[in-house]
Amino acid sequence: MSKAIPNDLRNLRACLLCSLVKSYDQFLEDGCDNCDEVLPMRGQREAVLDYTSANFDGFIAMMSPPQSWVAKWQRIDKFTPGMYAVSVSGTMPKEAVRELKGHGINYKPRDSTQGPGR
Ligand SMILES: [Zn+2]
Repeated sequence: MSKAIPNDLRNLRACLLCSLVKSYDQFLEDGCDNCDEVLPMRGQREAVLDYTSANFDGFIAMMSPPQSWVAKWQRIDKFTPGMYAVSVSGTMPKEAVRELKGHGINYKPRDSTQGPGR
């Protein structure tokens, strides 16, 4: 089994960028499997808190994510198999959004109730 599968169901968080769900400790230890290059979280507690949210709805298990699934939204080509949240509440810090732009990623909040600029 991939290590992207949550190993601690009490302390789950979802990545604000790709919606991957793992425990806080897993994000802290490994970072986000999809976003490590653009959102480094490994060993950075504050980054994990900033880039992930404990407030999310629903689970989708993606064992072999098709290229186009969430990639359609966030333009990430390769998604690691794992658990993904259906919707994530939370806002990416402005600096991180700017950083992502530098990587050619146009971040859109996963929370449909929060439009940009609110
Ligand atoms: Zn991610």
